[in-house]
Amino acid sequence: MAIATINPATGETLKTFDAHSDADVDARIAAADAAFADWRLVPIAERQAMLNKVADILDRDRDELARLATLEMGKTIASARAEVEKCAFVCRHYAEKASDYLADEMISSNASKSWVSYQPLGPVLAVMPWNFPYWQVFRFAAPATAAGNVGLLKHASNVPQVALAIEDMFKEAGYPKGIFQTLLIGGSKVERVLRDDRIQAATLTGSEPAGMSVGKICGEEIKHVVLELGGSDPFVVMPSADVEKAAKVAVAARMINNGQSCIAAKRFIVHADIYDSFAEKFVAGMEANVLGDPMDEATTLGPLATEAIRGELAEQVNTSVKEGAKVLTGGKAASGKGWFYEPTVLADLPPESPARREEMFGPAAMLFKVGSIDEAIGVANETRFGLGSAAFTNDEAEIARFGRDLNAGCVFVNTMVASDPRLPFGGVKKSGVGRELAGQGIREFVNVKTIAIA
Ligand code: NDP
Repeated sequence: MAIATINPATGETLKTFDAHSDADVDARIAAADAAFADWRLVPIAERQAMLNKVADILDRDRDELARLATLEMGKTIASARAEVEKCAFVCRHYAEKASDYLADEMISSNASKSWVSYQPLGPVLAVMPWNFPYWQVFRFAAPATAAGNVGLLKHASNVPQVALAIEDMFKEAGYPKGIFQTLLIGGSKVERVLRDDRIQAATLTGSEPAGMSVGKICGEEIKHVVLELGGSDPFVVMPSADVEKAAKVAVAARMINNGQSCIAAKRFIVHADIYDSFAEKFVAGMEANVLGDPMDEATTLGPLATEAIRGELAEQVNTSVKEGAKVLTGGKAASGKGWFYEPTVLADLPPESPARREEMFGPAAMLFKVGSIDEAIGVANETRFGLGSAAFTNDEAEIARFGRDLNAGCVFVNTMVASDPRLPFGGVKKSGVGRELAGQGIREFVNVKTIAIA
């Protein structure tokens, strides 16, 4: 894939970039390695304070940064602004909390004194996707740099301007040279970087194939890796729920980021007693979306980020329909230029249909009718993914069941799944390994060092 800005709302190529050569990449790795030698010795309070400067830049440049994201990957301008604000939040969170999360832990043992010290690893490669082009990067970069690591970003090839803007922010905030750099390279050049002895660890957010490739190489190189991959999150609605509210939240949960979010709810599992009422409200809510130019404040559904993403979604929907799924609304690409796809709801999905087995990255939802909580949990857990999950119920016993039995990295009750810098985030099964955010996230890229004195 060429490194370029292509406006998904029009299909027009706006700017192309030359990829960094191997020599360019080597120079950046050398700069990262050299920077780490000093950065690890900078008191954590100073590293934290610098994150506040990045947050101030994010706030100051919010509108311009948001415009760039919308231009490169098509998210609505309001959601792009919210994303930039959330990046300032994660920077301020670690500016305040990093030292608490990484404080030494005294432990009683046979030694006269023994403790755990959390120390940085060194240069970490971050392979990141286009869907939340700022947030995915900052939720890694804020904790990792506060902990004393240095970052190398290989961003998705369709968001180069965002990638360079992030590098510039760290420069402007006064970070020493080499602490956070962007590599303009394609996916095929990642292996060469990962196999470099100076790279200590990696993190990837993206598809399963990309995660498998990076995970395999890190395994061979014995390097720590965090993977945040796909999801096909269940959203269960039980009879005691407020159905009106559940349907409204369901639409928001499916349509977040034009439907392109790993934690978007994708499978709506509804008890038979309220199924018809929910389905009617949900389909109406999906149809009420305003499809159009994502720069327009009135738009609620912009284009998909790339032509390939739209093609993949169309294929998944078409094959599922051929295999027997029923289309309640949508089911096709929108006419005209740009990579738009209609809000879509499918029902009666055969078990082996691609919609049900794979991640659908776009504005297409699936409805399932179930007769009991056991059946609801069975359908919810049938997927090979396990990222987020949501349940709508006002029954205490059901809340306890969902919390225990939904096999996912998180369970949100009577609200939609959302990431929050204060809460750990990550998945089980094919949704990935490791955690981001909160204390668990900052402790991913550290040497948990035991120190014992006789
Ligand atoms: P990819 O996983 O291909 O891209 C994500 C990042 O990984 C990009 O930086 C990409 O680089 C890089 N990459 C791709 N292949 C490799 C590889 N073999 N080795 C190392 N790095 C690699 O996602 P796509 O954009 O192609 O989207 C495909 C599907 O992935 C979506 O439909 C969705 O299901 C899922 N996805 C999930 C995301 C999530 O948040 N969990 C985010 C994005 C996608 P480059 O751009 O240069 O190819």
